[in-house]
Amino acid sequence: MSAESYEQYLSRRVRSMKESQTMRITGLAKKMKAEGKDVVSLSAGEPDFPTPENVCEAGIEAIRSGFTRYTANAGIPELKKAIRGKLSRENGLEFAADEIIVSTGGKQTLANTFLALCDEGDEVIVPAPFWVSFPEMARLAGATPVIVETSIETGYKMTPEQLEAAITPNTKVLVLNSPSNPSGAVYNEAEVRALMKVLEGREIFVLSDEMYDRIVYGDVKPFSPARIEQMRPWVIVSNGTSKTYSMTGWRIGYLAAPKWIIAACGKIQSQTTSNANSIAQKAAVAALDGDQTIVEERRAEFEKRRDFMFRELNTIPGIECTLPEGAFYIFPSIKGVLGKTFGGQVMQNSTDVAEYLLAEHYVATVPGDAFGAPENLRLSYAASIEELTEAVSRIRKAFG
Ligand code: PLP
Repeated sequence: MSAESYEQYLSRRVRSMKESQTMRITGLAKKMKAEGKDVVSLSAGEPDFPTPENVCEAGIEAIRSGFTRYTANAGIPELKKAIRGKLSRENGLEFAADEIIVSTGGKQTLANTFLALCDEGDEVIVPAPFWVSFPEMARLAGATPVIVETSIETGYKMTPEQLEAAITPNTKVLVLNSPSNPSGAVYNEAEVRALMKVLEGREIFVLSDEMYDRIVYGDVKPFSPARIEQMRPWVIVSNGTSKTYSMTGWRIGYLAAPKWIIAACGKIQSQTTSNANSIAQKAAVAALDGDQTIVEERRAEFEKRRDFMFRELNTIPGIECTLPEGAFYIFPSIKGVLGKTFGGQVMQNSTDVAEYLLAEHYVATVPGDAFGAPENLRLSYAASIEELTEAVSRIRKAFG
């Protein structure tokens, strides 16, 4: 039997999942680079900065001192304390120690939450454009993702009316991701309050992915739905050290939620992965409790790049950008390019556009299809200004 035929034996859950598109394009770009092609990659989902020195030192010290064994399943007490401090200081949220769990990256906190809350038949509302893993994780947990399409007119944010219309008796979870990957949209306090008003008196949980909360621009202030007292029993806050501290490889994420949800996630984790990496937990304490100057410096650098990308891309015919308010992605609409012929090929959708840009102009981007937005492209500006300048010039030429 061929390998493909054997795949019939895979579980229905896995067969219903899609492969991560972001990983596919990044892999393709890496392969082209390895072949000696001069590819500018704007497909990465991680900061281009190194992990701060003090964080690395704490990790090294953890190894040297033999802190290399199993830890408490939900995380070491000093990290939980550091997380509580961060949430209080930066997000205005007070959580007790048993309302926090440390997991292997933001991804595990989210997967655990879906597994803890969802059954077959449950619906999970996911506003599009969405981060690729939300619908797939919901599917893996047996639930059905209900995609709510937003538009450039509302800055890619879901309106209360759209939320109301998407709710059914089966709705179990609403996913909110602000600042958003891929659009960079940030829901302000009034917008969060308006959405939460729709949920008042309804038994619907809000999974609030706040992974990019420290990477915001201008006077934009993200607002956690957990700030709303009546919503506290229903809100699960997910965050981590990956993006703020350039710690994507260390794999530290955390949840703050009512303790019965934390206990359930702990149960799942205790039977699957156990504690997050002991060394990385020590490093995360240094990240959260240490000097935060570098976080601000890097944020300011991202802001310069955002301004550059917004200004430049908007001057390319067929491309229209909203100003990202957070994260390090820009998500232009390429509607004006679709249907036109470039490199001898009609651009039918964003995958055609991304493949054309990569194959003919050596610029790696991620097609919006992956994020539920087929008329957009995601460009990461976690790259130097020189690389961004080169990429913009190639894109301009590509559509010239
Ligand atoms: N949430 C969002 C919105 C993300 O963009 C990512 C990473 O790309 C994650 C969660 C996962 O982060 P981690 O690398 O900590 O698993």
